[in-house]
Amino acid sequence: MTLVEAESSLGGQVARARMLKGRERLGVLVDDLYAEALRRGVDVRLGLKLGDPGPGAPAPVDVAAFDHIVVAAGARSLRRSLPGAEENGVEVLDAESAVVALEAGSWRQPRRIAVVDDEGSWIAAGLVEALGRGGHRVHLVAPSPQLFGRVTLYSRAGLLDRLRAFDVSSHLARRPKAIAETGLLLQDVVGGADASEVVPGIDLVIDLPARVARTELLAWLAARGVEERVVVVGDALAPRTLVEATYEAHRAVLHVLAAPTPTPVLSIS
Ligand SMILES: Cc1cc2nc3c(=O)[nH]c(=O)nc-3n(C[C@H](O)[C@H](O)[C@H](O)COP(=O)(O)OP(=O)(O)OC[C@H]3O[C@@H](n4cnc5c(N)ncnc54)[C@H](O)[C@@H]3O)c2cc1C
Repeated sequence: MTLVEAESSLGGQVARARMLKGRERLGVLVDDLYAEALRRGVDVRLGLKLGDPGPGAPAPVDVAAFDHIVVAAGARSLRRSLPGAEENGVEVLDAESAVVALEAGSWRQPRRIAVVDDEGSWIAAGLVEALGRGGHRVHLVAPSPQLFGRVTLYSRAGLLDRLRAFDVSSHLARRPKAIAETGLLLQDVVGGADASEVVPGIDLVIDLPARVARTELLAWLAARGVEERVVVVGDALAPRTLVEATYEAHRAVLHVLAAPTPTPVLSIS
Protein backbone atom coordinates (compact mmCIF):
# COMPACT_ATOMS: atom_id res chain seq x y z
CA MET A 1 0.00 0.00 0.00
CA THR A 2 1.18 3.51 -0.83
CA LEU A 3 0.10 6.62 1.13
CA VAL A 4 0.56 9.99 -0.57
CA GLU A 5 0.42 13.25 1.46
CA ALA A 6 0.95 16.73 0.03
CA GLU A 7 2.25 18.20 3.31
CA SER A 8 5.60 17.37 4.90
CA SER A 9 3.86 15.55 7.77
CA LEU A 10 0.70 13.46 8.19
CA GLY A 11 -2.42 14.49 10.04
CA GLY A 12 -4.32 16.93 7.82
CA GLN A 13 -6.59 19.13 9.92
CA VAL A 14 -5.76 17.14 13.04
CA ALA A 15 -2.23 18.54 12.81
CA ARG A 16 -3.86 21.95 13.49
CA ALA A 17 -6.52 20.72 15.92
CA ARG A 18 -3.89 19.12 18.18
CA MET A 19 -2.11 22.47 18.55
CA LEU A 20 -5.11 23.87 20.46
CA LYS A 21 -4.94 23.87 24.25
CA GLY A 22 -7.37 21.23 25.45
CA ARG A 23 -7.36 19.25 22.16
CA GLU A 24 -3.76 17.94 22.29
CA ARG A 25 -4.85 14.34 22.74
CA LEU A 26 -6.39 14.27 19.25
CA GLY A 27 -2.79 13.96 18.06
CA VAL A 28 -2.51 10.47 19.60
CA LEU A 29 -4.75 9.22 16.78
CA VAL A 30 -2.36 10.46 14.10
CA ASP A 31 0.78 9.27 15.91
CA ASP A 32 -0.66 5.79 16.54
CA LEU A 33 -1.96 5.32 13.00
CA TYR A 34 1.30 6.56 11.48
CA ALA A 35 3.36 4.18 13.65
CA GLU A 36 1.02 1.32 12.70
CA ALA A 37 1.28 2.16 8.98
CA LEU A 38 5.09 2.12 9.17
CA ARG A 39 5.06 -1.16 11.14
CA ARG A 40 2.90 -2.71 8.43
CA GLY A 41 5.23 -1.60 5.65
CA VAL A 42 3.06 1.11 4.09
CA ASP A 43 5.09 3.18 1.61
CA VAL A 44 4.44 6.70 3.00
CA ARG A 45 5.31 9.50 0.59
CA LEU A 46 5.22 12.91 2.23
CA GLY A 47 5.40 16.24 0.39
CA LEU A 48 3.90 14.75 -2.76
CA LYS A 49 0.77 16.40 -4.15
CA LEU A 50 -1.21 14.13 -6.41
CA GLY A 51 -2.76 15.87 -9.40
CA ASP A 52 -1.63 17.76 -12.42
CA PRO A 53 2.13 18.31 -11.88
CA GLY A 54 2.24 21.21 -14.37
CA PRO A 55 3.66 21.45 -17.88
CA GLY A 56 6.66 19.22 -18.60
CA ALA A 57 6.88 17.58 -15.16
CA PRO A 58 6.34 13.80 -14.93
CA ALA A 59 3.26 12.53 -13.05
CA PRO A 60 4.41 11.82 -9.46
CA VAL A 61 2.56 8.51 -9.13
CA ASP A 62 1.24 6.16 -11.81
CA VAL A 63 -2.33 5.87 -10.56
CA ALA A 64 -3.15 3.25 -13.19
CA ALA A 65 -0.86 0.81 -11.33
CA PHE A 66 -3.28 0.64 -8.36
CA ASP A 67 -6.40 -1.52 -8.11
CA HIS A 68 -7.94 0.59 -5.34
CA ILE A 69 -7.59 4.33 -4.74
CA VAL A 70 -8.84 5.84 -1.48
CA VAL A 71 -9.26 9.61 -1.66
CA ALA A 72 -9.13 11.38 1.73
CA ALA A 73 -8.17 14.83 0.44
CA GLY A 74 -10.31 16.82 2.91
CA ALA A 75 -12.34 19.99 2.38
CA ARG A 76 -11.79 23.68 1.71
CA SER A 77 -13.53 26.73 3.16
CA LEU A 78 -15.77 28.93 1.04
CA ARG A 79 -14.65 32.54 0.80
CA ARG A 80 -16.46 35.49 2.32
CA SER A 81 -15.51 39.14 2.43
CA LEU A 82 -16.10 41.38 5.40
CA PRO A 83 -16.40 44.98 4.15
CA GLY A 84 -14.70 47.62 6.28
CA ALA A 85 -12.16 45.34 8.00
CA GLU A 86 -9.07 46.92 6.48
CA GLU A 87 -10.28 50.52 6.81
CA ASN A 88 -11.06 49.96 10.48
CA GLY A 89 -7.85 48.10 11.31
CA VAL A 90 -9.54 44.81 12.16
CA GLU A 91 -7.58 41.67 11.34
CA VAL A 92 -9.50 38.76 9.75
CA LEU A 93 -8.00 35.25 10.01
CA ASP A 94 -9.04 31.79 8.91
CA ALA A 95 -9.00 28.81 11.30
CA GLU A 96 -5.54 27.61 10.35
CA SER A 97 -3.82 31.02 10.70
CA ALA A 98 -5.61 31.60 14.02
CA VAL A 99 -4.44 28.25 15.42
CA VAL A 100 -0.87 28.93 14.33
CA ALA A 101 -0.86 32.47 15.81
CA LEU A 102 -2.37 31.24 19.07
CA GLU A 103 0.11 28.39 19.37
CA ALA A 104 3.04 30.71 18.62
CA GLY A 105 1.92 33.02 21.47
CA SER A 106 1.62 35.92 19.01
CA TRP A 107 -1.08 37.66 21.05
CA ARG A 108 0.50 38.68 24.35
CA GLN A 109 -2.31 41.01 25.42
CA PRO A 110 -5.90 39.75 25.73
CA ARG A 111 -7.75 40.49 22.48
CA ARG A 112 -11.42 41.11 21.72
CA ILE A 113 -12.18 38.43 19.17
CA ALA A 114 -15.29 37.56 17.15
CA VAL A 115 -15.40 33.93 16.01
CA VAL A 116 -17.88 33.60 13.15
CA ASP A 117 -18.96 29.97 13.04
CA ASP A 118 -21.10 28.96 10.05
CA GLU A 119 -20.71 25.24 10.71
CA GLY A 120 -21.34 24.71 14.43
CA SER A 121 -18.55 22.13 14.48
CA TRP A 122 -15.52 21.22 16.56
CA ILE A 123 -13.39 23.67 14.60
CA ALA A 124 -15.09 26.66 16.26
CA ALA A 125 -15.58 24.80 19.53
CA GLY A 126 -11.88 23.95 19.86
CA LEU A 127 -10.83 27.45 18.90
CA VAL A 128 -13.26 29.24 21.24
CA GLU A 129 -12.19 27.09 24.18
CA ALA A 130 -8.49 27.64 23.47
CA LEU A 131 -9.03 31.40 23.10
CA GLY A 132 -11.00 31.45 26.36
CA ARG A 133 -8.24 29.56 28.15
CA GLY A 134 -5.77 32.10 26.74
CA GLY A 135 -7.66 34.93 28.50
CA HIS A 136 -9.15 36.47 25.34
CA ARG A 137 -12.63 38.05 25.21
CA VAL A 138 -14.60 35.98 22.70
CA HIS A 139 -17.86 36.79 20.92
CA LEU A 140 -19.19 33.73 19.14
CA VAL A 141 -21.40 34.59 16.16
CA ALA A 142 -23.43 31.85 14.46
CA PRO A 143 -26.24 31.85 11.87
CA SER A 144 -27.81 28.86 13.60
CA PRO A 145 -30.17 29.29 16.59
CA GLN A 146 -28.13 26.65 18.43
CA LEU A 147 -24.55 26.69 19.76
CA PHE A 148 -22.19 24.09 18.24
CA GLY A 149 -25.08 22.14 16.71
CA ARG A 150 -22.78 19.65 15.01
CA VAL A 151 -20.97 18.66 18.20
CA THR A 152 -22.60 15.63 19.81
CA LEU A 153 -25.01 16.30 22.68
CA TYR A 154 -22.76 14.73 25.34
CA SER A 155 -19.59 16.50 24.24
CA ARG A 156 -21.51 19.77 23.91
CA ALA A 157 -22.75 19.63 27.50
CA GLY A 158 -19.16 19.29 28.79
CA LEU A 159 -17.89 21.93 26.38
CA LEU A 160 -20.49 24.52 27.48
CA ASP A 161 -19.66 23.81 31.13
CA ARG A 162 -15.98 24.48 30.43
CA LEU A 163 -16.74 27.65 28.42
CA ARG A 164 -18.66 29.18 31.36
CA ALA A 165 -15.32 29.65 33.12
CA PHE A 166 -14.12 31.98 30.34
CA ASP A 167 -15.04 35.37 28.94
CA VAL A 168 -17.21 34.05 26.09
CA SER A 169 -20.63 35.23 24.91
CA SER A 170 -22.81 34.14 22.01
CA HIS A 171 -24.76 35.93 19.26
CA LEU A 172 -26.99 33.29 17.70
CA ALA A 173 -29.04 33.53 14.48
CA ARG A 174 -26.70 36.32 13.37
CA ARG A 175 -24.48 36.82 10.33
CA PRO A 176 -21.56 39.26 10.05
CA LYS A 177 -22.46 42.15 7.78
CA ALA A 178 -19.53 44.57 7.92
CA ILE A 179 -17.03 46.22 10.18
CA ALA A 180 -17.73 49.85 10.99
CA GLU A 181 -16.05 52.37 13.30
CA THR A 182 -18.56 51.33 15.97
CA GLY A 183 -17.65 47.64 15.78
CA LEU A 184 -18.72 44.42 14.08
CA LEU A 185 -22.19 44.77 12.52
CA LEU A 186 -24.36 41.69 12.73
CA GLN A 187 -27.58 40.98 10.87
CA ASP A 188 -30.36 38.82 12.29
CA VAL A 189 -30.79 35.86 9.89
CA VAL A 190 -34.57 36.24 9.81
CA GLY A 191 -35.04 39.92 10.64
CA GLY A 192 -35.42 42.77 8.17
CA ALA A 193 -33.09 45.63 7.43
CA ASP A 194 -33.45 47.11 10.93
CA ALA A 195 -32.66 43.87 12.72
CA SER A 196 -28.98 44.55 13.24
CA GLU A 197 -26.67 44.56 16.23
CA VAL A 198 -23.20 45.98 16.90
CA VAL A 199 -20.46 44.21 18.81
CA PRO A 200 -18.11 47.03 19.84
CA GLY A 201 -14.34 46.95 20.25
CA ILE A 202 -13.58 43.85 18.16
CA ASP A 203 -9.94 43.85 17.01
CA LEU A 204 -9.80 40.40 15.40
CA VAL A 205 -12.34 38.30 13.48
CA ILE A 206 -11.74 34.57 13.09
CA ASP A 207 -13.92 33.68 10.15
CA LEU A 208 -15.04 30.08 9.76
CA PRO A 209 -17.30 29.96 6.68
CA ALA A 210 -18.98 26.74 5.53
CA ARG A 211 -16.66 24.15 3.93
CA VAL A 212 -17.07 22.07 0.79
CA ALA A 213 -15.41 18.81 -0.20
CA ARG A 214 -12.28 19.07 -2.37
CA THR A 215 -13.23 17.54 -5.72
CA GLU A 216 -10.36 18.58 -8.05
CA LEU A 217 -8.56 15.30 -7.49
CA LEU A 218 -11.64 13.26 -8.46
CA ALA A 219 -11.82 15.05 -11.80
CA TRP A 220 -8.08 14.42 -12.29
CA LEU A 221 -8.47 10.70 -11.53
CA ALA A 222 -11.52 10.45 -13.82
CA ALA A 223 -9.48 11.98 -16.64
CA ARG A 224 -7.05 9.07 -16.18
CA GLY A 225 -9.86 6.52 -16.50
CA VAL A 226 -9.49 5.13 -12.96
CA GLU A 227 -12.69 6.52 -11.38
CA GLU A 228 -14.16 3.05 -10.88
CA ARG A 229 -11.30 2.16 -8.53
CA VAL A 230 -11.87 5.23 -6.36
CA VAL A 231 -13.49 5.33 -2.91
CA VAL A 232 -13.90 8.76 -1.31
CA VAL A 233 -13.82 9.06 2.48
CA GLY A 234 -13.95 11.69 5.22
CA ASP A 235 -14.25 15.42 4.54
CA ALA A 236 -13.54 14.81 0.83
CA LEU A 237 -16.94 13.12 0.72
CA ALA A 238 -18.66 15.73 2.91
CA PRO A 239 -17.02 17.96 5.55
CA ARG A 240 -17.80 16.46 8.97
CA THR A 241 -15.65 15.17 11.82
CA LEU A 242 -12.87 12.73 12.64
CA VAL A 243 -15.43 10.10 13.60
CA GLU A 244 -16.78 9.83 10.06
CA ALA A 245 -13.32 10.19 8.50
CA THR A 246 -11.83 7.29 10.47
CA TYR A 247 -14.95 5.12 10.16
CA GLU A 248 -15.17 5.56 6.37
CA ALA A 249 -11.42 4.95 5.93
CA HIS A 250 -11.76 1.76 7.99
CA ARG A 251 -14.70 0.62 5.84
CA ALA A 252 -12.75 1.36 2.65
CA VAL A 253 -9.89 -0.84 3.89
CA LEU A 254 -12.30 -3.67 4.76
CA HIS A 255 -13.63 -3.44 1.21
CA VAL A 256 -10.08 -3.79 -0.16
CA LEU A 257 -9.29 -6.72 2.14
CA ALA A 258 -12.42 -8.47 0.89
CA ALA A 259 -10.90 -8.54 -2.62
CA PRO A 260 -10.02 -12.11 -3.72
CA THR A 261 -6.24 -11.53 -3.72
CA PRO A 262 -4.19 -8.74 -2.08
CA THR A 263 -3.99 -5.88 -4.56
CA PRO A 264 -2.10 -2.57 -4.69
CA VAL A 265 -3.84 0.32 -2.89
CA LEU A 266 -3.16 4.04 -3.18
CA SER A 267 -4.37 6.24 -0.34
CA ILE A 268 -4.33 10.00 -0.88
CA SER A 269 -3.58 11.75 2.39
C1 LIG B 1 -8.82 23.66 14.17
C2 LIG B 1 -9.58 22.37 13.96
C3 LIG B 1 -10.07 21.67 15.05
C4 LIG B 1 -10.79 20.49 14.86
N1 LIG B 1 -11.22 19.81 15.96
C5 LIG B 1 -11.88 18.64 15.79
C6 LIG B 1 -12.30 17.88 16.95
O1 LIG B 1 -12.05 18.26 18.09
N2 LIG B 1 -12.99 16.71 16.72
C7 LIG B 1 -13.29 16.26 15.44
O2 LIG B 1 -13.90 15.20 15.28
N3 LIG B 1 -12.91 16.97 14.34
C8 LIG B 1 -12.21 18.14 14.49
N4 LIG B 1 -11.82 18.85 13.39
C9 LIG B 1 -12.23 18.37 12.05
C10 LIG B 1 -11.39 17.15 11.65
O3 LIG B 1 -10.02 17.44 11.86
C11 LIG B 1 -11.67 16.77 10.22
O4 LIG B 1 -13.04 16.46 10.07
C12 LIG B 1 -10.83 15.56 9.82
O5 LIG B 1 -9.46 15.87 9.96
C13 LIG B 1 -11.13 15.16 8.37
O6 LIG B 1 -10.18 14.19 8.00
P1 LIG B 1 -9.86 13.94 6.47
O7 LIG B 1 -8.78 12.90 6.45
O8 LIG B 1 -11.11 13.65 5.72
O9 LIG B 1 -9.30 15.32 5.88
P2 LIG B 1 -8.08 16.23 6.34
O10 LIG B 1 -7.78 16.10 7.78
O11 LIG B 1 -8.38 17.60 5.80
O12 LIG B 1 -6.85 15.62 5.54
C14 LIG B 1 -6.75 15.77 4.13
C15 LIG B 1 -5.30 15.57 3.77
O13 LIG B 1 -5.20 15.36 2.35
C16 LIG B 1 -4.06 16.02 1.88
N5 LIG B 1 -4.27 16.29 0.45
C17 LIG B 1 -5.22 17.06 -0.11
N6 LIG B 1 -5.10 17.05 -1.45
C18 LIG B 1 -4.03 16.24 -1.74
C19 LIG B 1 -3.39 15.86 -2.94
N7 LIG B 1 -3.83 16.28 -4.14
N8 LIG B 1 -2.31 15.04 -2.89
C20 LIG B 1 -1.84 14.59 -1.67
N9 LIG B 1 -2.42 14.94 -0.47
C21 LIG B 1 -3.49 15.75 -0.51
C22 LIG B 1 -3.99 17.30 2.72
O14 LIG B 1 -2.68 17.83 2.73
C23 LIG B 1 -4.42 16.78 4.09
O15 LIG B 1 -3.31 16.35 4.87
C24 LIG B 1 -11.06 20.01 13.55
C25 LIG B 1 -10.55 20.71 12.44
C26 LIG B 1 -9.81 21.88 12.63
C27 LIG B 1 -9.26 22.63 11.43
